[in-house]
Amino acid sequence: MNRTEQLDQLKSNPHWDIVIIGGGATGLGSAIDAASRGYKCLLIEQYDFAKGTSSKSTKLLHGGVRYLQQGNIGLVLEALRERGRLLKNASHLSSIQPFIIPIYSLWEKWFYAIGLKIYDLMAGKLSIGKTTLLNKKEVIRDIPNIQQTKIKGGVLYYDGQFDDTALCVDMAATAIEYGATVLNYCKAIEFIKTNKKITGLKFYDSINDETIQINSKAVINATGVFTNAIMQLDDAHLHDYVTSSQGIHLMIDPYFFKGQNAMMIPKTSDGRVLFAVPWYDKVILGTTDTPIEKINIEPKPLEEEIDFIITHFNQYCSTPISKKDILSVYVGLRPLIKHDNIQSAKLSRAHALSVSTSGLITITGGKWTTYRKMAEDAVNNAIFVGKLIHAKCVTKDLKIVNPISKPSILKKIVSENPEMNQLIHENFDFIKAEIIYAIRHQMAMSLEDVLARRIRLLYFNAKVAIQVAPEVARIMSKEMNKNADWTIKEINSFSTLASQYIV
Ligand SMILES: Cc1cc2nc3c(=O)[nH]c(=O)nc-3n(C[C@H](O)[C@H](O)[C@H](O)COP(=O)(O)OP(=O)(O)OC[C@H]3O[C@@H](n4cnc5c(N)ncnc54)[C@H](O)[C@@H]3O)c2cc1C
Repeated sequence: MNRTEQLDQLKSNPHWDIVIIGGGATGLGSAIDAASRGYKCLLIEQYDFAKGTSSKSTKLLHGGVRYLQQGNIGLVLEALRERGRLLKNASHLSSIQPFIIPIYSLWEKWFYAIGLKIYDLMAGKLSIGKTTLLNKKEVIRDIPNIQQTKIKGGVLYYDGQFDDTALCVDMAATAIEYGATVLNYCKAIEFIKTNKKITGLKFYDSINDETIQINSKAVINATGVFTNAIMQLDDAHLHDYVTSSQGIHLMIDPYFFKGQNAMMIPKTSDGRVLFAVPWYDKVILGTTDTPIEKINIEPKPLEEEIDFIITHFNQYCSTPISKKDILSVYVGLRPLIKHDNIQSAKLSRAHALSVSTSGLITITGGKWTTYRKMAEDAVNNAIFVGKLIHAKCVTKDLKIVNPISKPSILKKIVSENPEMNQLIHENFDFIKAEIIYAIRHQMAMSLEDVLARRIRLLYFNAKVAIQVAPEVARIMSKEMNKNADWTIKEINSFSTLASQYIV
């Protein structure tokens, strides 16, 4: 996965079957789908892969127990099927995660047990574990520091968990492996039209400060919360199609939440859902659902959102947390299909697809879990719009893998320079060779790409990420042949961003 090679590939052929705008889960999934069907496909992402919402999820592969409660059976069925497929197709970055719902009344016990039994049954052959009732002792055994007063027992159920950002990077590699051209730091800026139909695209490559124009038979807009902007680039008179709500997550040390089972609170005192989920050697707490007007690629947490999570987590666990215990706070924006007068929490999480009169295919909404189905729908429409010869979707069993063996590359980097075997930070087992690997094989272009989305230290511990930034930038500048100005600029801009992740 090398950017210069991808750019050469792009320049050797300006004619494409399908061009995809957006390098999050939906866009990368569409690139895999299109390339694996044999179409000539190009994907452009304005920043880095997964820089948008796709790196800021709760990292669950789920059918959405909550949507079952809302009676949205179709959505749950589809997501359960996709959960099962993703657990098989990306097994190196996903796993089955047991969840416990602590129970405080007999009524609750049967309500959740029956609901989750139905959820299990709906998964059919792709079921990943049986819902069972737990007594109080079993709940305490599995979550040793749960608040023990008033607890009557629990319900144990299973969902999936995954590494969203790492999966995006491997999805980019998989798309390339199937013949797609994939470029980060390229922003769509203008549609080219012939007889009012889209026939191409202009985009700006911010790494080389260059505007590039290409032709394409079909264009897919997979830009998440930026959907409106791209639709209005096509037709300035269009009303907003999506709206957005913000969700924050707090990363904490497992000292505050012990045990390998996650905890799910289906209804906090103010009616929201709260998760505490072990993730690598940390724990993610989340999330919130705050309607947002202004779209920002790096949204900021609100004080009241942080307070909500801390207050409610402390009601359920006996090792209370305060702001100083938060290692990192990250914030994502949900793209939600707009319906006037409906609260964001109640807006459907189903995906939607639209085709404009000029032929722009927009795919948005949905969930990470359902990205494959979203991609299949988008490419089916691109085939129709672009009048392409029909080829069947083959992604149901297609494995997402990085074809390069990371351990052998790391070994080679260390053999060239033994210093690269040193840890980046004493509390984390990332070695310096991983920085070189990210540059040579994962298209990392900036300090932020490495620290936020390749080794993800920013998410595990934002203060540590700032601490190691100068040394990581030094190694990067040497590898990438950059000067001192570049290094200083990278350290400054990364530190400014990372300070937003510190509470
Ligand atoms: C708080 C929160 C928690 C969530 N948790 C879960 C979960 O646990 N499980 C689950 O299944 N789902 C979850 N979701 C939903 C899931 O994360 C999203 O549905 C999914 O990531 C959306 O992916 P996307 O590719 O559509 O959008 P994005 O990831 O936002 O990708 C869109 C990309 O388009 C790029 N772009 C925009 N404009 C341009 C342009 N002009 N040119 C080029 N590129 C452009 C952006 O930079 C961005 O990278 C969660 C969402 C939120 C907000």
